[in-house]
Amino acid sequence: MASSTKRPRPRAAGATTQDRSRTAPEAVEPDAVESDAAEPDAVEPEAVPHVRVAVIGSGFGGLGAAVRLRRAGITDFVVLERADSVGGTWRDNSYPGCACDVPSHLYSFSFAPNPDWPRSFSGQPDIRAYLEKVADVFGLRPHLRFNTEVTEARWDVERTRWQITTTAGRWTADAVVAAAGPLADPQIPDLPGLDTFPGKVFHSSRWDHDFPLAGKRVAMVGTGASAAQIVPAIQPQVGKLTVFQRTPAWVLPRRDRAITELEKRLHGRFPITAKARRGTLFALRELQVDAFVRRPGLLKLVQRLAERHLADGVADPALRAKLTPDYRIGCKRILLSNTYYPALAAANTEVVPAGLREVRGSTLVAADGSEHEVDAIVFGTGFHVTDMPMGSRVFGVDGTSFAEKWKEGMEALRGSTVHGFPNFFFVIGPNTGLGNSSMILMIESQLNYLIDALTRLDEIGATAMQPTARAQRRWNLELQHRMDRTVWSTGGCRSWYLDKSGKNTVLWPGSTTSFRRATRKVDLTEYELILRRDGRAGPSALSEPSASSEPSGSSGSSEPSVAATGTEEVMA
Ligand SMILES: Cc1cc2nc3c(=O)[nH]c(=O)nc-3n(C[C@H](O)[C@H](O)[C@H](O)COP(=O)(O)OP(=O)(O)OC[C@H]3O[C@@H](n4cnc5c(N)ncnc54)[C@H](O)[C@@H]3O)c2cc1C
Repeated sequence: MASSTKRPRPRAAGATTQDRSRTAPEAVEPDAVESDAAEPDAVEPEAVPHVRVAVIGSGFGGLGAAVRLRRAGITDFVVLERADSVGGTWRDNSYPGCACDVPSHLYSFSFAPNPDWPRSFSGQPDIRAYLEKVADVFGLRPHLRFNTEVTEARWDVERTRWQITTTAGRWTADAVVAAAGPLADPQIPDLPGLDTFPGKVFHSSRWDHDFPLAGKRVAMVGTGASAAQIVPAIQPQVGKLTVFQRTPAWVLPRRDRAITELEKRLHGRFPITAKARRGTLFALRELQVDAFVRRPGLLKLVQRLAERHLADGVADPALRAKLTPDYRIGCKRILLSNTYYPALAAANTEVVPAGLREVRGSTLVAADGSEHEVDAIVFGTGFHVTDMPMGSRVFGVDGTSFAEKWKEGMEALRGSTVHGFPNFFFVIGPNTGLGNSSMILMIESQLNYLIDALTRLDEIGATAMQPTARAQRRWNLELQHRMDRTVWSTGGCRSWYLDKSGKNTVLWPGSTTSFRRATRKVDLTEYELILRRDGRAGPSALSEPSASSEPSGSSGSSEPSVAATGTEEVMA
C-alpha cells in the first residue's frame, strides 16, 4: 500500500444546507458513516487495504493526477496499472514511425518542462522516456501498482466508498480517478473469415516487433493518424503494401525538425525561453479553434493548402482522385505528414479505395469486391472510444454501470463527474477531446478540478460528492447545442468522434482556455454532497448553475496557468 499521510480531520458538519427530501439514492446509514469518519484509514474487516484515492492508469492522465495529489498533500493513494510500466499510449504504441502530432514543447506537462526534446514532434521512445522520468522525478514509484487491472469498481452505499476489484487484489477508496485512456483499447473489426487468415495479424497499438516485414505482402487496414505514420515507415521495407482506405484523410505538411543543441541549452539555462516557445505554440492553436467550432467556412483556406500538398505528393491523377476527401477539412482528424503521400504513390503500394469486407484464407476481399493476397494484416482501425471499456466495469449508487447509464451516449458534468457515481473523477472523460491541440492541456485542467473537489470535500467535512442530474443535463444540452455548429457536425463526414447515434461525445466544442476556465473550481451549486459526520446525504445547495458554469467561453491567447501546483521540475 502507498505511504500514507493522515488526511486532515474534516470539520464536523460544514455542509448545512441539507434537503433530505431529495437524497434518496445516495442516503447512507448514519452508523456506517460515523465509524468511517472515526477511522478514515481503517482497513475493512477482511483486511482490504483502504486508500483515499485510487487512480486507474499510468499514462499522462494517471501520472499527472499522482503528481497533483502529492502536491496537494494527499499521499494516501495508489495508481493501478494493468501493464508492467508507465506510459499508457506511449508505452503501447511502439509501431514504426510513432510520434506525437502536437509539438513536444506543448505536448508535455506545464509543471515538467523538458528542454531536451530532440525534435519538434518527438518520437514515441522519447515521450515514453519522459513519462518514466516524470515517475522518478516526482517520487511516484511508491504509489504505482503494475500488472493490476481494474476489473470492477462498485460504489458501496453503506460505507460511502468505492470497492475496487483488480487482477492483483482488492482495494477500497474514498475516491476514484479514472485515467484509463481515451485511446487505450484497440478495436479490430469483426470481419467474416478473419480467423481463417494463416498469416500474422496485429493492431497498430500492439505491434509485433518479432515479425520481420522485409519482403512481405502487408495489408494496412485504415487510414487514420497511426496509419499515416506506419505507411511511410514500413513501405520501403515490405515487398508489397496494400492500403485499405474506407475514407481518405486530409493531410497537411508536418513542420518537424531536430531541435538544435543551442536551443536545448537555451531552454535548459533560461526556462523562460521554453515557456515563450510553449506559449507561442499554445496561442497559435487557440487561434484556430474558432474555425473548427464556430466558423468552419474559414477552413476553406486550409483545405486549399491540403489540396496543394496532395498535388505536390502525388503526380498520378487517378491516385490523387482516390486520395481526395469529399468532406470539409477538419471534420475528421487532420493528418500531418510529409512522407505519407510519397509512400502511397510508391511503386510497391496499392491504395484500395474501400474498406476490408471479408477474409478468405490469405485473400482479403475489399468492399468494392477486389481481392488481395497478403502475408500480414496490420489494423490501424482505432480504439474503443464512444463505448469506453471502463463503462461496463464501474457501478454507481443504484448498481447501474456507466455502460447502462450511457446507452444513449456518454455524458458527464465538465467532462469529469457523473450523476450516480459519487467521488468518481474522469481524466479525459466525455467531450474533453481536441481536434487541434495538446491533450495535456485538457488533462491539467481536469486535474485542477479534481484537486479542488477533494479539497472542498475536506473543507466542508463531506465524504462524497456527485453532480446533480440537473446540472449535468444543463451542461450537456448547452454543449451539444454548441456542437451543432462545429465542423465535426457540419463537415459532411462520419468520424470516430461520433457515437452510433451520430452524437459527438468525444470532443470539446471550444478552446482549451474556456475548458480551463470551466474546470478551474468546483461549483458546489452543481453538486449533491454526502456528509461524513452525521451520515445525512443531500444536496449542498440547489440553486441554478451560475453563468460561469456554462460550457462556453471565448478563446484566449495566453495559456492558462495551473492553479496552485507549486514549483516546476525541469526534466533535464
Ligand atoms: C498513437 C497515438 C498518438 C497520439 N498522439 C497525440 C498527440 O500528438 N497529441 C495529443 O494531444 N494526443 C495524442 N494522442 C492521444 C493520447 O491518448 C493522449 O494525448 C494521452 O496520452 C492520453 O493519456 P491518458 O493517461 O489519458 O491515457 P493513456 O495514455 O491511454 O493511459 C491509460 C492507461 O490506463 C491503463 N488502463 C486502462 N484500463 C485499465 C484498467 N482497467 N485497469 C488498470 N489500468 C488500465 C492503460 O494500460 C494505460 O496505461 C495520441 C494517441 C495515440 C494512440
